[in-house]
Amino acid sequence: MAMLQQQCLIGLSTRACERLNRLAECQKMLRSCVTTPEDDTKWSCLDESQPFARLNQRKRFWRKYGHAIALVPFVVVLFVLLRFFGNSTSSLFTVPIYVSLAWAAFVAIYSLTLIVRVLSIRCPRCGWRFGGGDQCGSCSFPRHSESVSV
Ligand SMILES: [Zn+2]
Repeated sequence: MAMLQQQCLIGLSTRACERLNRLAECQKMLRSCVTTPEDDTKWSCLDESQPFARLNQRKRFWRKYGHAIALVPFVVVLFVLLRFFGNSTSSLFTVPIYVSLAWAAFVAIYSLTLIVRVLSIRCPRCGWRFGGGDQCGSCSFPRHSESVSV
């Protein structure tokens, strides 16, 4: 950003000025979206912002329990069908298996959308994409505070 300002000031690049103006507009819009009037203080990390914190919390939950939530219904259905209806030749008993597999697919798709949403977060400090790391790729704004261990 400092390089853009320098190029804009000395008149080297009109494109740098346009990008700088767009960046300033984006930052202003982002601040108006993520801060309330009483919460206009500077954040020390991304987790202090409520929408981002909730999203991160959800991502952590699904990362921890997502496999179990997706696969336990399939295992239970399989166990019940084989245990109690193992000798049946009816194709009706395959329906619960397909339903549980559809549930697993739904959970996987939901987890993927969460990951995409987390990766598309914009940094509240600089306005660029935050990325998947523990710090913003552009301005090193931390995702978590020093005291919180993940
Ligand atoms: Zn940043």
